[in-house]
Amino acid sequence: MTARLPLVACYGGTFDPVHNGHLQAALDVCERAGCREVRLIPCHVPPHRAVPAASAAARQAMLELALVGRSQLRVDVRELQRDGPSYTVDTLLSLREEFGEGVALGWVLGADAVAGLNVWRDWQRLPELAHLLILDRPGYPLPERGPVARELAPRLTTVVADLHARPAGRVWCVRQAPLAVSATAVRETLAAGQSAAHLLPLPVWAYIKQQRLYGYENDLGHKAESE
Ligand code: ATP
Repeated sequence: MTARLPLVACYGGTFDPVHNGHLQAALDVCERAGCREVRLIPCHVPPHRAVPAASAAARQAMLELALVGRSQLRVDVRELQRDGPSYTVDTLLSLREEFGEGVALGWVLGADAVAGLNVWRDWQRLPELAHLLILDRPGYPLPERGPVARELAPRLTTVVADLHARPAGRVWCVRQAPLAVSATAVRETLAAGQSAAHLLPLPVWAYIKQQRLYGYENDLGHKAESE
């Protein structure tokens, strides 16, 4: 019988800001896949999208606030400590070096990110370094043809034990009911002068107000709310 490897899931993102959808997804993955822990890894410079609105320090602070009291979730700042673009392949190489082959690694990503996976640096190496744990996002089915489909299809599994049987190499879809929230929606809500309290963990909402992030200070509605 092969040994059951502990599984560490790594959840990369801009987290600009971290919101309830991220938290629910991380907790869901943790429970359903039987993870030892889930690491939330804020990126420093995202290679394929605009520069984040909040500073790296603020994004890290919000993540730390969001995870208080959730011992199975941890912030991992290795991408913030690295200069230049945050390539996932570099992050996975450094995680693999830290954990060795005795731990299975999972890289969590939303189904929205999967369609464009083939523009990520060295994307075909990613499944060699970690399992891919794919989160449902409404409106984003997995690709059925093209290079990403060809690479991922033979690796697909619905069996959680497969994720613990080897250090990397499988693709598993997290059949969650995703919360209809995104960081873009949070930023737009704030920019429109509305409260985002219902979209965020409360300590994160308090931090945004205190630091006047995402245009919070310019809005009369917000001022009225805090008076
Ligand atoms: P933005 O709206 O700025 O693009 P985002 O909300 O998608 O941000 P990111 O930090 O870019 O958040 O996302 C990190 C990862 O979390 C991505 O793989 C994304 O697909 C996933 N994700 C974001 N929101 C949700 C959600 N509500 N449910 C499940 N996964 C999510």
